[in-house]
Amino acid sequence: MFHPEDIKRLQEQSKSLLKHADDEQFLLNEVEGLRDCIRFHEHRYYVMNDPLIADVEFDQLYKLLEKIESAHPTLIKPDSPTQRVGAGFTKQFQTAQHLVPMLSLENSYNAEDLLEWDRKARELSGLNELQYCIEPKFDGASISLVYENDQFARGATRGDGVAGEDITLNLKQIKSIPLSAAFSKYGIQQVEIRGEVLMNKKNFQQFNEGLIEQNLPPLANPRNAASGSLRIKDASIVAKRNLEAFIYHLAYVHTEGKSKEIPSHSKSLEMLWDLGFRSPVHEMQVLKGIHAVVDFCKTFEEKRDELPYEIDGLVIKVNEFSLQDKLGMTTHHPRWAIAYKFKARQATSKLLQVEFQVGRTGSVTPVAKIQPVPIGGVTVASISLHNQDFINEKDIRIGDSLLVERAGDVIPYIVKSFPELRTGEEKKITFPTACPICQTNLVKPEEEAVWRCPNDQCDAQVVERMIHFTSKDAMDIRGLGDANIRKFHELGWLKNIPSIYNLPFDAIKKMEGFGAKSITNLSEAIEKSKQQPLYRLINALGIRYVGETTAKTIAQSVEHLLDLSKMSLEQLQEMEDVGVKVAESIHQYFKKKENIETLRELESLGLQLHSIKKKSTGGRLEGKTFLFTGTLNQLKRSQAEEMVEANGGKILSGVSSKLDYLIVGEDAGSKLEKAKKIASIQILDEGGFIKMMG
Ligand code: AMP
Ligand code: ZN
Repeated sequence: MFHPEDIKRLQEQSKSLLKHADDEQFLLNEVEGLRDCIRFHEHRYYVMNDPLIADVEFDQLYKLLEKIESAHPTLIKPDSPTQRVGAGFTKQFQTAQHLVPMLSLENSYNAEDLLEWDRKARELSGLNELQYCIEPKFDGASISLVYENDQFARGATRGDGVAGEDITLNLKQIKSIPLSAAFSKYGIQQVEIRGEVLMNKKNFQQFNEGLIEQNLPPLANPRNAASGSLRIKDASIVAKRNLEAFIYHLAYVHTEGKSKEIPSHSKSLEMLWDLGFRSPVHEMQVLKGIHAVVDFCKTFEEKRDELPYEIDGLVIKVNEFSLQDKLGMTTHHPRWAIAYKFKARQATSKLLQVEFQVGRTGSVTPVAKIQPVPIGGVTVASISLHNQDFINEKDIRIGDSLLVERAGDVIPYIVKSFPELRTGEEKKITFPTACPICQTNLVKPEEEAVWRCPNDQCDAQVVERMIHFTSKDAMDIRGLGDANIRKFHELGWLKNIPSIYNLPFDAIKKMEGFGAKSITNLSEAIEKSKQQPLYRLINALGIRYVGETTAKTIAQSVEHLLDLSKMSLEQLQEMEDVGVKVAESIHQYFKKKENIETLRELESLGLQLHSIKKKSTGGRLEGKTFLFTGTLNQLKRSQAEEMVEANGGKILSGVSSKLDYLIVGEDAGSKLEKAKKIASIQILDEGGFIKMMG
């Protein structure tokens, strides 16, 4: 869509527009140019993954356009970049007839299937060898888009293939779908194109974490997240989901007068790319003969997990359109295309029993023990059932047949049970009323979905707390892993956190599997952990809602850890980033006598309870707040944070008006979106940050 000369021109135009930010007349004359610049940068960011300006600069351009359009509403055009967002709530999705039916694909699972399909295709076409275009089979929700006179006119779900639901408004929220595209350049007046909407793995993970945080059941896979998101009635929520769209098919073309001929599928993908769509031009492969295709499929499957999004196979298409026409279609699928499905990441199994595990905060999680099944290269034997709501919603009973999924690197998940396969022997899952470890009666605050064991001294909680205490991001005591902690606890050596610092090494020496070397290493690691800075200790205590970032702010705000015990709820909330929930949790923790005793004991054992505050040197970032999001390339996240702190700056844990700088790495998600809406936040990329730090 943008050619090298355009790129240069648009870059310069962007700069010039920014320079004239206060010159209303200039902007009025240039309003279409301003839109072009914004479309250009959106394309660089969302389609090419290769932005050419800083996010702050982009935001400034966008705000200029918003300002000029709100002062002169008559200038607004439907394909203005401002017209994506905000607008609207769909009461009920209308039915949308597809211009041509959306067919399914024939499936293949191995080389023989492909050879057989190729044999038939050659026979029908009368050729000895065919040229094929291969592309990923994107595992998302399929969509169909209609453009009329270069404008995005309507978008729909697949539905039953003949008609789907009109989700135009929601699709406008997806930045890789252009609101206008110059099809007329190719002599095309009306076109229907097909593609797939997906949520990438990283956004999916964040999305699920958010659900779990709210005690809502997580989703099985990014596909469900994508298709669910498309059917949300409030478009502004859809906008926040960071969906992406790949366009892979030209389904219907209406031309009038002169038009450019598009001879093949691969050329059509190139045209779509040229028009600003994210078509798989970089992912596709054009090959001659089925043997090359088979080889390609095999090697590609191994690389499946390297992609940032899920695919469930490859699609092989006869490349020449004239041959596609010759081969035609059945009522179900085209004969010129076939899906090569990768090994399933689903399997069926049986629920043998449910165990209830007690976590470090006492939360009781039901865990399904299933008949072990291999899925995607690992054997799955136990799967979290999250909470009672999840079990009810999925109607899961002991003895049930289950469909289990393990998508990519995602944790295994129970997709559904098969009530139709029940024998009558199945048993309902009953939640214990008492802790399975210490028998204390469980409690469940009304607003929560999780039952808890309220006994702090519960063995399960004690062990889990010690595991957390010694973990890598906490006190980082290497050599004292889960298994040893459990063993030493059973032997009565680890009763609580302070006992970690009083291990009987003489006795451990006599145990099997402990050589002199490993004992020295362990005792050194324990000794060294006493010097860990206060924020690590705070994180290690496992206070609910207090993670690493909050621990850092707390450590910055006190002289000594026990100062917290003297602070009121209000005082606690005055700390940066500490809201009601966090403050209450800290308050609770320090109200307990046992906790105070533990802390005193740790101090007498030599642990660091004083905050070694970086002396207020009037560092040049004094009073400034920072937050990092996405993946940094040149610096490690921890390194970058230390640079900020060393200069007197502070790290926050979330986007709020208290934030001064958001530093954005690759694949940044919701934080960036949120920050864009707060004008006072400066958004920098990694390069900008490094420059700032000198
Ligand atoms: P299935 O649902 O298994 O019959 O597979 C057909 C579906 O695969 C189509 O309806 C599309 O939604 C989806 N699909 C994903 N990627 C592609 C692709 N590159 N070409 C064609 N269809 C695709
Ligand atoms: Zn208990």
